[in-house]
Amino acid sequence: MKLDSPIFIDADAARIHLEAQRWPHGPNCPHCGNARADRITAMKGKAHRPGLYNCMECREQFTVTVGTVFERSKIALNKWLLATFLLASSKKGMSAHQLHRMLGVTYKTAWFMAHRIREAMKEDVKSAGPIGGAGKTVEADETYIGKRETPRVSAQRKKNCFLPSISTRSRSPWVIALSLESSTS
Ligand SMILES: [Zn+2]
Repeated sequence: MKLDSPIFIDADAARIHLEAQRWPHGPNCPHCGNARADRITAMKGKAHRPGLYNCMECREQFTVTVGTVFERSKIALNKWLLATFLLASSKKGMSAHQLHRMLGVTYKTAWFMAHRIREAMKEDVKSAGPIGGAGKTVEADETYIGKRETPRVSAQRKKNCFLPSISTRSRSPWVIALSLESSTS
């Protein structure tokens, strides 16, 4: 994964990537858990935000960011993905000031993003219940977010960068792999 990857530049590409990561078998409703393809419709047309789905079971609408730290943010999703990638892959850590310059957002916004992402990374995954929620499948090769004792992974190794997200409803964090080829260190 390179810094000029479309998912870091384009909001739609970022959303499509996140959808593929979070919903490998198609969208499922974060409100009621419905995952039936024939009971979820994509809302098309200019009146709707791209990536908006309608659940025919509970009649709620949702996007891929519902239940994640990216939820209800006005910051473009590609910037969130880039910030997460930078924070997770930078060996020496990254300051809000660096983020501010690299993302082209204000320092205040960069600080907020870094704070949110770090909070999500800090969550104790083990004590917070199964990743992804009970019975949910999360495809991941390695986990090394947050914990101080987490081993460093060599730059040569293909590494997965995990997008941490805290569910705003169950409070249980889930992480999804970005499957990033490290190229920043
Ligand atoms: Zn639903």
